Amino acid sequence: MKQLNVNYQKKIGRMIKDVEILKPKLIYYNGKRGDVKSFKKILVGARIKNVQRRAKILLFELSNGYFFILHLKMTGQLILRAKGEKDATGGHPWPSLMNPTPNKWTHITIFFTDKSILYFNDIRQFGYIKIFKTSELKKQKELNLLGIEPFDKKFTLNILINMLLDRPKTKIKQLLLDQHFISGIGNIYADESLYFANIHPTRLAGKLQTAEIKKLYMGVKSIILKSITMGGTSANTYVTLNGKKGVYKPFLKVYGKEGEPCSKCQGNISRIKLGGRSSHFCPDCQN
Ligand SMILES: [Zn+2]
Repeated sequence: MKQLNVNYQKKIGRMIKDVEILKPKLIYYNGKRGDVKSFKKILVGARIKNVQRRAKILLFELSNGYFFILHLKMTGQLILRAKGEKDATGGHPWPSLMNPTPNKWTHITIFFTDKSILYFNDIRQFGYIKIFKTSELKKQKELNLLGIEPFDKKFTLNILINMLLDRPKTKIKQLLLDQHFISGIGNIYADESLYFANIHPTRLAGKLQTAEIKKLYMGVKSIILKSITMGGTSANTYVTLNGKKGVYKPFLKVYGKEGEPCSKCQGNISRIKLGGRSSHFCPDCQN
């Protein structure tokens, strides 16, 4: 979803002056972990040619024939600091993005010649930065395995119907959360989309009727569009990469509303655990 990249796009054309790596295990060069010397040699002096984001991955194209992937994984955050500007923050909200940075979770820092700084924080240290040659781009499994994006022109109703038929035995909620299936639907939007479509989260993908899939398709698109125009939610989840605060939260119908009345039938919203994640739904409206 490129529209969330605003602040990272600002980096285009800027030159990297220095890189500080406090946790070498978070970097890879040519498939090799912790090679700080080679890593710095490639980055320092290179310009950022382009930045793209897909789900939790940022892909930076450099002026010297290399790319790097920055994967936020479960707890990665990015803070972009430019002189005279408010910090632009993105990624996961733990620890609070309001904390002063750098802090004890700041593992990698990239300094630019225009004096701006990009901090990579990660509590659990599953995130990483990986450098590779442009010719190796197609081999990067992180990029190839990602599913289609909800706003991709190729993501049509017929494509969704066929995708569901390919995974008939999987529960629909788990399928929506699978980044290899559709990329970029988080737990909140999966719950909200299923509520919109009146589909129970445990329904098997192969058992959905065409009319239900159509409603789900509309739900996914409209809810994500709404969340983007509203700036994303900030509730216990991934926040948008341009660091906007979650003003979409008041519009949520089921997520985080266990025990509260359903807006359609006034029954109580329930919560169950599915694949280790909470699922919120209305047992009366969603079948
Ligand atoms: Zn209901």
